[in-house]
Amino acid sequence: MAELLTIKNLRAGVEDKEILKGIDLSLGRGEVHVLLGPNGSGKSTLMNVLLGHPKYQVTEGAIEFEGEDLLEKAAYERARAGLFLSFQSPEEIPGITLENMIRTAKQAVTGEKVKLLPFRKALKAAMEELQMSPEYAQRYLNVGFSGGEKKRAEILQLLMLSPKLALLDETDSGLDVDAVQVVSAGVARFQQENPDSSVLIITHNTRILEKLKVDKVHVLMEGKVIEEGGPELIASVNDHGFTHLLDAEG
Ligand code: ADP
Ligand code: MG
Repeated sequence: MAELLTIKNLRAGVEDKEILKGIDLSLGRGEVHVLLGPNGSGKSTLMNVLLGHPKYQVTEGAIEFEGEDLLEKAAYERARAGLFLSFQSPEEIPGITLENMIRTAKQAVTGEKVKLLPFRKALKAAMEELQMSPEYAQRYLNVGFSGGEKKRAEILQLLMLSPKLALLDETDSGLDVDAVQVVSAGVARFQQENPDSSVLIITHNTRILEKLKVDKVHVLMEGKVIEEGGPELIASVNDHGFTHLLDAEG
């Protein structure tokens, strides 16, 4: 069967600066891939380009999602096609509650009216799962949330929206050990509930991966994928760092 996502020779950047310098990466249905790489290697840029962030220009290459050209689609169409991005730094949005935001997003991506009562019930259950207190549903999105609460709110969106491809950009960064466990359990639950959906996860913290079955690891450096392998690559990077991969490559 065709891959869910195929990136071919992708070059992209901002203004005159090229950040992604020819990325090739593919991901199958139901798979969990990890994207590793030092700070500034272009990981977040890749996620933003996949979601169609207007700040980034694609200068070369192709992205296919379920066999369709993703680059032709606007950001909202990509969300509707089944992509979801959890941001490295979630924004605070005064004036819209967490519940309202998720319900509106669900209506937008499914194109169907989401009935309030069943939605509330599902939301409550997912919040319990993530050890979030139910009153957060009625608070303005991320306003006054701690770092850990913002990340839980991201995973809550993931569970409620059930995308085909979840892009998680350092969802675990800045979290204490307990919060990492909760986030990691949330991602594992997403996988169980959506076995055909795929996850591309950027992390510096291997703890989040303990509950997940990782299929493939890609290492990004200076805008290129310099190494690919199985989960054993994570341990190798942990033990030896990124630069030895460059040395090995010669
Ligand atoms: P990573 O997520 O791997 O740490 P990023 O994708 O955030 O890396 O950044 C890669 C490089 O591109 C960095 O040098 C960063 O400064 C630059 N960059 C990313 N986004 C922008 C932007 N919007 N404007 C200018 N430079 C950017
Ligand atoms: Mg980043």
